[in-house]
Amino acid sequence: MPQFHPPLRDHLFCLYDLLGFESHTRLPGFEAFSRDVIEAVLEQSARFCSDVLYPLNRSADEEGVHFENGVVTTPKGFREAYSQLVAGGWPSLTASPEHGGQGMPHMVNFLFEEMLNGANLSFGLFPGLTRGAYVLLTEQGSAEQVAQYGPKLASGEWAGSMCLTEAHCGTDLGLLKTQAVPRGDGSYSLSGTKIFISAGEHDLTPNIVYFVLARLPDAPKGSKGISLFLVPKLLVDEDGSLAARNGISCGAVEHKMGIHGCPTCVMNLDGATGWLVGEANQGLKAMFSMMNTERIAVGIHGLAVAEASYQNAVAYARERLQGRAPSGPRDAAKPADPIIVHPDVRRMLMTQRALTEGCRMLALWTAQALDVSERHADAAVRKQADGFVALMTPVVKAFLTDCGSEVANLGVQVLGGHGFIRANGQEQYVRDVRITQIYEGTNGVQSADLLGRKVLHLDLFDSFARPVKSFVERHEGNEALDEFLEPLAASYDLLQDATWMIRERAASHPEEAGAAAVDYMRLFALTALAYLWARAAEVSLPKSNEDFHRAKLSTARFFMQRILPDTASLHARIVSGAAPVMELDEAMF
Ligand SMILES: Cc1cc2nc3c(=O)[nH]c(=O)nc-3n(C[C@H](O)[C@H](O)[C@H](O)COP(=O)(O)OP(=O)(O)OC[C@H]3O[C@@H](n4cnc5c(N)ncnc54)[C@H](O)[C@@H]3O)c2cc1C
Repeated sequence: MPQFHPPLRDHLFCLYDLLGFESHTRLPGFEAFSRDVIEAVLEQSARFCSDVLYPLNRSADEEGVHFENGVVTTPKGFREAYSQLVAGGWPSLTASPEHGGQGMPHMVNFLFEEMLNGANLSFGLFPGLTRGAYVLLTEQGSAEQVAQYGPKLASGEWAGSMCLTEAHCGTDLGLLKTQAVPRGDGSYSLSGTKIFISAGEHDLTPNIVYFVLARLPDAPKGSKGISLFLVPKLLVDEDGSLAARNGISCGAVEHKMGIHGCPTCVMNLDGATGWLVGEANQGLKAMFSMMNTERIAVGIHGLAVAEASYQNAVAYARERLQGRAPSGPRDAAKPADPIIVHPDVRRMLMTQRALTEGCRMLALWTAQALDVSERHADAAVRKQADGFVALMTPVVKAFLTDCGSEVANLGVQVLGGHGFIRANGQEQYVRDVRITQIYEGTNGVQSADLLGRKVLHLDLFDSFARPVKSFVERHEGNEALDEFLEPLAASYDLLQDATWMIRERAASHPEEAGAAAVDYMRLFALTALAYLWARAAEVSLPKSNEDFHRAKLSTARFFMQRILPDTASLHARIVSGAAPVMELDEAMF
């Protein structure tokens, strides 16, 4: 029977041992979050996720959502679980106390989101989108809009949804056609059709707040002519009570590969009433408040599924008896040894473990910078942290979701044929996590953002390079750490070399950056993981008499020796340039 237990011990390791959360609570507003408080929050959330949400994971996958006459009903148990989520105050962990939120660090919320989505990804999408909508509203909305919708979104009493995609425009939002016509009373009439809208319609909340991208009648062509609108499902009276149904409705629900418990909707806007958010024609820029939040959140979904799949695989590998250990029987009284004795099964489990724990460190390192970028008293420190978050956002989104898929696939393989059978839980992870590599900007597009915009255009590489170089320099001559430092330094050299080379080539060859982007992203991310695994080793070496820390060191060694060497082939691929990718004539495909 598949099980899910949030990995609290590793969460605490990342927070306190690795990233020094004690000093993080010196940031203004975080003073009350002592270790006792944080541990209590994590333990309670772990209980909620494993006891309430996880049991609904497979039944929701089997049942899916129901669609009839524009009404969407979520799978059995979702409504009750959602009420408990809201009653527990979980959606408002990071929301401002001004709106009834708890003002908690992103670092803690990231861990909560990992547990939530590891337990039940389909369910986790609802509060995830609502949090993104809250962030967008509070960053871009008018004071009046924030007062009207902020507290309801913060608490999760109302849900949020983002409406960007249209049939003819996914990645290239400049092509969108939905129209917004001013009514002369400050509101707009919106008409058009959006597709693929997650949680576009459902029965979990009485109201849904849509953030819709549309075009004003006189808007310039392309992405410079996009504006952002707030469109509620039910209009809201001045006293906050719900009024008439607005002209936005669900026309169909997609049948899809995974996340069956979360509806993916066609949304029709037929003269729906909306209000401009921010300035006219600046909508795409404003929408990035939500998109950046969601990109990091989607990365965490990859991590979450990886953890769940790994746990399932380990439990199976301990119990399944097949063959004998190459070094001789473990237990001669049994007909065979558990498959965990086989080196190839160990290879798979260690890969799952090293990637999952590495991705967790990467997510939390980014979350730490996100907190600093919002809270630090010194504006220069805030700005620097902001640059780092901008650099790491596409890495977290793309690498963590790539790893989610890789780890979930390994999970199926560990179970052999039983991995392919629904009841064992592993195949659902493969199906559920696959979309995370596609939505919120495909991973190819994230890689192009990392290389083209963040590294080459905005020159943010140094915000990553600085801590890595200073760590390596600080520990030079530390023999105990050498086995971790050397591969880190070698990988960093490859990354730096690739960065210089692409910068030079891209200046005169427009296809170079695009051809290198995905390999560059992985090279970058593996180097970041090497840095974090080296830091984890530094922390664990003095405590290697404890099982937990000994396991950290073994996993760090596996990462350095069995995963990091991929950086050499990634570098070689980048060096080969755009020619082998582009040479074949288009007509020959
Ligand atoms: C289940 C699901 C839920 C979704 N939820 C939402 C939602 O809530 N709200 C919403 O607005 N949208 C949502 N989407 C839409 C999703 O964000 C898009 O599908 C995604 O951005 C890709 O767009 P597309 O499917 O049109 O692919 P396309 O843009 O057509 O891309 C096809 C391929 O071409 C590549 N490509 C395209 N342009 C470039 C380029 N310039 N450079 C390099 N490669 C390129 C892509 O990487 C991809 O491999 C959802 C989609 C799905 C399937």
